[in-house]
Amino acid sequence: MADPGRPAAPDGGLAGLGVSQGRAAGPMIRMAPQPALPSPRQVADPAAETAAVVKALESVTADLRQRAANAARGTGGGATREGGGAAPGGGDAAQAGGGDAAEILDALAMIADDPMLREDAEAAVRDGLDAPHALDAAFTHHRETLAALGGYLAERAADLDDLKHRAVAACLGLPMPGIPAPGHPYVLVAEDLSPADTAGLGTDVVALVTEKGGPTSHTAILARGRGLPAVVACAGITALTDGTVISVDGKTGRIGVGLTDEAVAEVRRSDREERERLANSSGPGRTADGHPVKLLLNIGSAADLRPGAEGVGLFRTEFLFLDRKREPSFEEQVAAYTEVFARAGTVVVRTLDAGTDKPLPFLGLPPEPNPALGIRGLRVDRVLPAVLDTQLDAIAEAARATGADAWVMAPMVTTPAEAAGFARRARARGLTRVGAMVEVPAAALLADRLLAEVDFLSIGTNDLSQYTFAADRQHPGLADLLDPWQPALLKLIAACADAGRAAGKPVGVCGEAAGDPRLAPVLVGLGVTSLSMAAVCVPSVREELSQHTLEECRELAALAQ
Ligand code: PEP
Ligand code: MG
Repeated sequence: MADPGRPAAPDGGLAGLGVSQGRAAGPMIRMAPQPALPSPRQVADPAAETAAVVKALESVTADLRQRAANAARGTGGGATREGGGAAPGGGDAAQAGGGDAAEILDALAMIADDPMLREDAEAAVRDGLDAPHALDAAFTHHRETLAALGGYLAERAADLDDLKHRAVAACLGLPMPGIPAPGHPYVLVAEDLSPADTAGLGTDVVALVTEKGGPTSHTAILARGRGLPAVVACAGITALTDGTVISVDGKTGRIGVGLTDEAVAEVRRSDREERERLANSSGPGRTADGHPVKLLLNIGSAADLRPGAEGVGLFRTEFLFLDRKREPSFEEQVAAYTEVFARAGTVVVRTLDAGTDKPLPFLGLPPEPNPALGIRGLRVDRVLPAVLDTQLDAIAEAARATGADAWVMAPMVTTPAEAAGFARRARARGLTRVGAMVEVPAAALLADRLLAEVDFLSIGTNDLSQYTFAADRQHPGLADLLDPWQPALLKLIAACADAGRAAGKPVGVCGEAAGDPRLAPVLVGLGVTSLSMAAVCVPSVREELSQHTLEECRELAALAQ
């Protein structure tokens, strides 16, 4: 693992933490932040301010129309989520294909081009506001009008915030905020990315590099899910100029800067060859002497499903609903789960894991001073029990309809009583395989008592590291504490595996540690029965396990602790 404190690689490039394997190269484009409004100015020339307002709105409209045209042609924007706000259709827009995305972008362009909006901004200039503040006032007024109408129209209010940020940026001569859609392949560079940003990336993004973030951040997880090379905690990357041609090595964390065309071609060739080599590996997970270890997939939606694994070990259902302003209905949820169940034999569904780094706006949870230690995961059930009831109903219905082998588990279980309560409600709906995630040291320490209540455990090493080492999983400076080789973490995993062996029940790992090929034999040696990871990691984990007997795995596990 690269040292996040070391900004420059010896070859003059940059270095960060490689969090999603693969190599890519191309021109970089930075994701611009939302513009801050400057202090108001005294207006000396109202005509000039009005002209600036009109020019900003025209430029936003033209930019959106251009993006719509690109999306319609399928050159980016196909899955582009515009800005930080919700495009029409909420989360659906984030996943929209070329045609849908083009329609969405055209609809946004029409709003930006609305004469009433322009007249409102011009009136604000007549009232004495400078151009950026006049735009801000006009968009805010329209937003409030929409919000007051309620229902579907109120959901569209967030689009106006996105358009406002764009108009103000255009007026101030700043780059447009949000995920760029230049119409050609590029490396996306950002200070940091929210899960919603990452979930809505267009197909034109070939790699991700962020200045912040850690190895278990959701940027890393989503990049792996999409098979995109990614480097986080890369000091100095946002200081480079847009258009600089860079290479990204998602394994070593190295960033090459200022590449020639030949060097770009070489990076792409070597990435293609490595992917082809790994794609040829197949079959169930086994040690060299045939001890079976299930290799499963971590997915956020049906789009992450790939052949070559033995089922789904972690279906992060909250990723389906990150952008939603309204709770997804029972029917919508049944449809989303059915899509996955129909294509994957065995699926471990995790109920919504909301809160802290994965906020779900529709829950309307109030801000907390310490969100990672507050109402998140299963704890949301303390304040909104109907949400879990609806979700369990929908999972049970999708399982019945498809005949899938659906297992269900809760995130952030802390006590045996919580595990028992969850199991009771899941079983009441006919779900027979009920489990608990172990993400909190308290749960690992009482793994035997948890297993008296549930049928399996799944260890979330991302959060288990965070809570064991009191180290924010997003913190770029604490990667050494979040390293899954830490003996204290391995001892907690061993305690869970021992409890599983004694109870005769499966204990898997579904955190990012499960996709580390060097760690896989250690986890198996500790007694873990399945490893669940992004599809891109499966071939190398399979290859590594096949090189060690179970006895060797046990020796490695003893050494590592
Ligand atoms: C984990 O914490 O290890 C886990 C798998 O859950 P998530 O990363 O979604 O929090
Ligand atoms: Mg977790």
